[in-house]
Amino acid sequence: MRIDVLTLFPGIFSGPLDHSILARAIASGRLAVAVHDLREFAEGKHRVTDEPPFGGGGGMVMKPEPVFAGVEALRERFGPGKAILLSPQGELLTPALARALAGEEHLVLVCGRYEGVDQRVADHLADLEVSIGDYVLTGGELPALVLVDAVARFLPGVLGDPQAPYRDSFEEGVFEGPQYTRPRVFRGHAVPDVLLSGNHAEIDAWRREEGLRRTLLRRPDLVKKKLTPGERVD
Ligand code: SAH
Repeated sequence: MRIDVLTLFPGIFSGPLDHSILARAIASGRLAVAVHDLREFAEGKHRVTDEPPFGGGGGMVMKPEPVFAGVEALRERFGPGKAILLSPQGELLTPALARALAGEEHLVLVCGRYEGVDQRVADHLADLEVSIGDYVLTGGELPALVLVDAVARFLPGVLGDPQAPYRDSFEEGVFEGPQYTRPRVFRGHAVPDVLLSGNHAEIDAWRREEGLRRTLLRRPDLVKKKLTPGERVD
C-alpha cells in the first residue's frame, strides 16, 4: 500500500519510519510512505500556508489552497487515494478502523498545525477525519505516524506471525494476558507454573482468563463485547 503525507514539517517523519518493523515493511515493498512539504504546493513568492482566522480569536489557521493542491496533485500522480485529515474531532482510531484502512491501496494524510485547518478541507476534500485520542496535540504529524504504524501491522507479511495482530489487546474486547520470558525466577519472582506445563489448552485458557481479569479491573467498558457464555458476567 502507498501512503502520502502532507505536512509543514517533513523532518518529523525521519526516525519513526527508519527503524524496526516499519523500516522493514518499507524495505520489503509492502508499504511505501512518501512525505511531502505542504509549502511546495503553496503559491506566491512567500508560499504562505497559514493566516489568522476570519472572525478573530488569535492563532493561525492553515489555508485551504495548498492542501487542496497537494491532495489533488498526489491523486493525479499516484491514483485515487482516500484523503484523511488528522483531527482531534475525527473518528477515533480503533483496530477496526486500522484494519479497514489497511485494505486501501492509497492513503493521503493531511497533518494540521496551529489552530487547525480551514473547515473547507474537512467539508469538501477529506474523505475521513481521524483522531488518535481525546487530547489535543500541537500537530497532526505524530497522529499520522500513529496511524501509519497501526495500519502497517495489518498489512500481510509485515508482522512475522500473520495471526499476531488479531490476538493483541482490544481485538476481542479484552487485553492480551501477561507475558514472561527468561529467567524463570527473577529476584525471587517466579514465572507462573502453567506457562511451563507444556499444556497448550491450559496455557491458552489461563492467558485468556488473566487478560479478562485485567480488562475488568482496568477497562470494564471494553469487557462487554465478545465474551464466551461462560465468561459473561451479566
Ligand atoms: N483547534 C483545534 C485543535 C488544533 S491542534 C481544535 O480545538 O479542535 C492542531 C492540529 O493537530 C490539528 O489540525 C490536527 O491535525 C492535529 N491534532 C491535534 N490533536 C489531534 C488528535 N488527537 N488526533 C489527530 N490529530 C490531532
